Amino acid sequence: MSYAVVSGAAGFVGSHMCDRLLAEGHTVLALDNLLTGAERNIAHLRGNPNFHFRLHDVTRPVEIQAKVDLVLHMASPASPKDYLEFPIETLDVGSLGTRMMLELALANDARFLLTSTSECYGDPTVHPQVETYWGNVNPVGPRSCYDESKRFAEAITMAYHRKHGVKTHIARIFNTYGPRMKLNDGRVVPAFMDQALHGNPLTIFGDGSQTRSFCYVSDLVDGLYRLLLSDEVFPVNLGNPREMTILQFATAIQELTGTSTPLIRLPLPEDDPKQRQPDITKARAILGWEPRVPLEEGLRHTVEYFRAI
Ligand code: UDP
Repeated sequence: MSYAVVSGAAGFVGSHMCDRLLAEGHTVLALDNLLTGAERNIAHLRGNPNFHFRLHDVTRPVEIQAKVDLVLHMASPASPKDYLEFPIETLDVGSLGTRMMLELALANDARFLLTSTSECYGDPTVHPQVETYWGNVNPVGPRSCYDESKRFAEAITMAYHRKHGVKTHIARIFNTYGPRMKLNDGRVVPAFMDQALHGNPLTIFGDGSQTRSFCYVSDLVDGLYRLLLSDEVFPVNLGNPREMTILQFATAIQELTGTSTPLIRLPLPEDDPKQRQPDITKARAILGWEPRVPLEEGLRHTVEYFRAI
C-alpha cells in the first residue's frame, strides 16, 4: 500500500481524486487551506482509517512523518471568479506551493503529479489544442494570475525533473464538471444549473458563440490516475473533445431541467477564450484513455447533486 499526499484535497477535483486513491488501496494525507475548497467535499471520508486531513497552506513547508510515495499537487483556486478574487494566493500556490510539493517529492523519491490547465493555451489560435502548442496568454491581463501561475508550475516541475530526476507528470485539464462543484463559483455549469433550478434567466456572457468542451469528473480522475502511474513527463491534455457553444450548452441545460427560463446577455469577461477543445490523441495513445460519460448523463448526475444540496 502506498502513501499519497494530495494538496487541494477538499476541492472539487481533489476530493474525487481522494475517493479514487482510497478505492485503489492507497493511504491519503489530504492537505487544504479551505480558501476555495470545502470540508463538506471530504466529510464522507472522515472515519476512514486510510484517510487523514490536515488544514495546511501548501505555500508553507510541510512536515510528514511517513514515507511518501505519491505527491498530487492539485491545490489552486480554479474558477475565474475565485482567481480574480484571490490573484496573489493563486500565484503563490502555483509558484511557492508547487515548489514545496516538488521538494516533498524529491525528499521522498516520490512520483509527482501537477494538475495544470488548458488555460496554459490562453485564447488559443490553434484549434483543437495540442500539447505542443505554446499558447496565446496575455501576461498582464486579469486571467494572468491563473494562467501564468500554472505555466510557472509546469516550468518548475520540468526543472525538478531535469535537475533532480523527480518522476513528474503534468496534466492539462480542460473544463470539468460534476458533483461537488461550488454552486456560487461563477463557472458556467453551476451558474446555469442554479439559474435554471431557481427559474432565473441564464446569463450568457457575450454572444454565446464561444466554445467549451465539458468532461465529467469521473472520466477526468481516471485519466489523472493513469497519468500518475505512467512514464510520461511532458504535459498531457485531459478533457472531453465534444465541443459546443455556450448557447448550445444553455439549451442543453434548459432541456435537462425542463425549464424554459429566458437567456440574458451580459458582457464577455476580458480575455475570455473564444474556443477550447482538447486534442486527446496523446492521452489515447499513451494512457489508453478517453472520456466515457456522455454529457447528458454527466449533467443528470450533477443536477441531482445541486437539487439535493
Ligand atoms: N459563461 C457564461 N455565463 C456564465 C458563466 C460563464 O456565458 O454565467 C461563459 C464564460 O464567459 C466562458 C464559458 O462560459 O466563455 C466558460 O466559463 P467558465 O467560467 O465555466 O470557465 P472557463 O472555461 O472560462 O475557465
